[in-house]
Amino acid sequence: MRGTIMDYPLTLPTILEHAGRLHGDQEIVSRHPDKSIHRYTFADFYRRSRQLAEALLQAGLKPGDRVGTLCWNHAEHLEMYFGVPCAGGVLHTLNLRLHADELAYIVNHADDRFLIVDDDLLPILEGFKEKVSFERIFVVRHGNDPLPEGMEDYEDLLTAAEGTFVYPEIEETAACGMCYTSGTTGRPKGVAYSHRGVVLHTLSAAVPDVFGLSMRDCILPIVPMFHANAWGMPTTAVMTGSKIVFTGPHMDHESVLELLESENVTLTGGVPTVWLPVVDALKKEPERWKLKKGMKFVIGGSAAPEAMIRDFDNMGYQVIHAWGMTEMTPIGTTGVPKPAFDSMSKDEQFATLAKQGIPLPFVEIRIMGDDGLAPWDGNTMGELQVRGPWIADSYYNPDDPIFSWTEDGWFRTGDVVTVDKEGYVKITDRTKDLIKSGGEWISSVDVENALMGHPQIKEAAVIAMPHEKWVERPLACVVLEENAALSPDDVREFLSQKFAKWWLPDAVEFIDEVPRTSTGKFQKLALRERFSAYRSN
Ligand code: AMP
Repeated sequence: MRGTIMDYPLTLPTILEHAGRLHGDQEIVSRHPDKSIHRYTFADFYRRSRQLAEALLQAGLKPGDRVGTLCWNHAEHLEMYFGVPCAGGVLHTLNLRLHADELAYIVNHADDRFLIVDDDLLPILEGFKEKVSFERIFVVRHGNDPLPEGMEDYEDLLTAAEGTFVYPEIEETAACGMCYTSGTTGRPKGVAYSHRGVVLHTLSAAVPDVFGLSMRDCILPIVPMFHANAWGMPTTAVMTGSKIVFTGPHMDHESVLELLESENVTLTGGVPTVWLPVVDALKKEPERWKLKKGMKFVIGGSAAPEAMIRDFDNMGYQVIHAWGMTEMTPIGTTGVPKPAFDSMSKDEQFATLAKQGIPLPFVEIRIMGDDGLAPWDGNTMGELQVRGPWIADSYYNPDDPIFSWTEDGWFRTGDVVTVDKEGYVKITDRTKDLIKSGGEWISSVDVENALMGHPQIKEAAVIAMPHEKWVERPLACVVLEENAALSPDDVREFLSQKFAKWWLPDAVEFIDEVPRTSTGKFQKLALRERFSAYRSN
């Protein structure tokens, strides 16, 4: 028997319409590069997002066309989050931390037709402009510099709209957004989010035991809007009608704390690197900052240290430890206290909160161990595999063969975990050969390949070392050719021609040989053990 319910598409225009009609008075606050504060309402955001959609259609945007953005977190970027997909386009957020060559590859691979870029990020565009061909480039101007030749003002694009916008028909399975993530080997890989996936993720993220958002909340996503949809926070806040605050380029702890206090923020989110100086400042000057009691700090991207969770708790704030992936739109689990918490000791509670949490509704998880499916006993380790309505089933036109999905359709996360009987996932290791520094990826394999291209280097292995601030930093273990004479600085100088500065290894160790497994693969575990006492600061 067929249900007697409408076959109603789950698409982003529904969220935009709901927000515009019901929460028109709600505020959106952005900090501009000159530190001034800009405020407007959901009504303004609604009108301008629709103007953007209409203007893009006038400019010839066709269903599925990609629109690249190279922007900080701000109100205009939120307009793009809705304006582009509501016109039937695909919002492709470009990660401004990447090297120019990588950005050029990504733009060309995604075939971005238009670009919207912040004026203060034009130097980044300059670095790869010659290698790509955007049909039109629109600049969000927060400063007074004249427009570069051939570029147009984002505001002029908006005013070109006549106010006659009608949403095009959009299928819920159509792509609405795109994001690239680092490949372990080879090139970055693109994930194309669907309207349906984003809408369901948005609904799920809002529920009490995920972010628990309502129209009385004020949310400040520090996680960049160019990285994995800013964990779904902007879209969820628009749906729930919460006040939204954006930092612009100012993510230093003083600027963040100022906004948390002055705007009465109730939920914020970012990687551990962002929170470290915030915790320090709060501990040093507890009287100086008056944050809302019970405020929620979502910490994810890398493991939230237990000490950080304890510190926030001592100060009367709640930590929500979140785990997710670009391939998962991105949230998969959140560390919220189940009722079983009430009968635990304080130490057990913190140990549990330091785990990565329980799956969101609709996210299915399983552990694949060496001997098949592993039990949820808190001990047996294996690879975490996931499936659900917002989890990628493929990469966008991959260049290399991809082995990220099982034959029965589960996504292989590359994270090694245990799951306890309550369903709390704990990440214990990673099978992917990547280093996560300050929330962004460094490909060990890319750096190794570059090193091995040096005529005086025989072989090289790059491993992650723990770092107090950045969580992980690369250490290069290099075997030199006979009679070669290279210093660590020579090695770093060589790499700097190819990679962004933050990709360069903090240290270079010259070793006699790279240890190998019986099948001849680099045995990085042995190197990690050998240099386990190593700390880069
Ligand atoms: P990304 O696609 O850049 O968001 O990175 C996703 C990966 O980051 C995951 O597969 C994990 O390896 C790591 N990650 C994300 N959140 C956490 C967390 N809370 N704890 C530990 N690792 C995490």
